[in-house]
Amino acid sequence: MTFQNPVFIPGPTNMPEAIRQACYMPTIDHRSPVFGKILHPCLEGVGKVLKSNSAKIFIFPSTGTGGWETALTNTLSKGDKVLAARNGMFSHRWIDMCQRHGLDVQVIETPWGDGLPADKYEEILRGDKSHSIKVVLATHNETATGVKSDIAAMRRALDAANHPAMLYVDGVSSIGSMDFRMDEWGVDIAVTGSQKGFMLPAGLAIVGFSEKAMKAVETATLPRTFFDVRNMAKGYGNNAYPYTPPVGLMNGLKASLAMIEAEGLENVFARHTRIAEGVRRAVDAWGLTLCATSPDVYSDTVSAICTPEGFNATDIVTVGARDYDMAFGVGLGEVAGKLFRIGHLGSLTDAMMLSGLATAEMVMVDLGLDITLGSGVAAAQEYYRLGSGKSKRIAAE
Ligand SMILES: *Cc1c(COP(=O)(O)O)cnc(C)c1O
Repeated sequence: MTFQNPVFIPGPTNMPEAIRQACYMPTIDHRSPVFGKILHPCLEGVGKVLKSNSAKIFIFPSTGTGGWETALTNTLSKGDKVLAARNGMFSHRWIDMCQRHGLDVQVIETPWGDGLPADKYEEILRGDKSHSIKVVLATHNETATGVKSDIAAMRRALDAANHPAMLYVDGVSSIGSMDFRMDEWGVDIAVTGSQKGFMLPAGLAIVGFSEKAMKAVETATLPRTFFDVRNMAKGYGNNAYPYTPPVGLMNGLKASLAMIEAEGLENVFARHTRIAEGVRRAVDAWGLTLCATSPDVYSDTVSAICTPEGFNATDIVTVGARDYDMAFGVGLGEVAGKLFRIGHLGSLTDAMMLSGLATAEMVMVDLGLDITLGSGVAAAQEYYRLGSGKSKRIAAE
């Protein structure tokens, strides 16, 4: 049997056939105008998804983690002060990267399940009279806990404190699936990758730099070679890279951006919100709770679902893969074994989601959890019916 089930991990996400076809292309000369016809639509399209008119977009052969490194090494110097909150595994890893690069990170320890504490950021920024903090880090969507944070509130915190620090946002599991407003929120660097909202395989680090961030590039002294945006910017002028670009992946990105534009960015966000809400209703019907502590931080791209005390949540992922060929996400770090995750981002329909919920139910019943088959599916069905064009048509008749 060929493996045909969709995956419900929060990245890599399911690949639409059109994107797969676009990645599968013959070799071209990557220092030619032919490559320019792939590169420039990608740069333009990413800018639109970031809702930025002025950001410089860079696309590196790498992953989201390389995007973090691009942000730090291009704009900071050894010993520079960075302010960041740790509320999950991904924010933790970015902090760890700062420390390994010799940056001085002030960490706001935040309960896993909470959003970023904009008020605490503001308090610390207000206290930093000498403006020694150069950068504020914010993880828009903490994929480990299914928690979305309010980036507009982070901007307000900086402005209220009248602090000139730059705002760098990890949008790896939000950009392209949830609303992101680089210009409006005054984001100085936005970071994402190819394998989440963009529905591609892993392999691209995608970043946007504001004018202010581009200025910081000139004075920063952290060592950088592969991720040096100055070399990349120079290459772009000649339809080229400072090294060999991953042409197939970029052609896939061009196709992905065209698909997102055809659906309409706001429609893509609305679809993610609807699918996520169906999942949340299922979780509620199962009598389980989310790791995210309040509705205002519920993520539209991933739900982290807590299981009862004494139960190993990782078993759900193991049995789902072993017995049903279906992939769910495990708990990471501090929440390992305590929760499992359902990824619901990228190329996904209501019907695909129902198959994931139905399978999760079978697995949980197999493992002895007190859940009624069909309960979560029915709750999601009721919700998806309301949202579908068809049911609205029926109601109007
Ligand atoms: C997936 C993810 C990353 C890491 O991206 P890689 O592509 O695996 O390097 C970073 N941050 C968040 C929020 C993510 O979801």
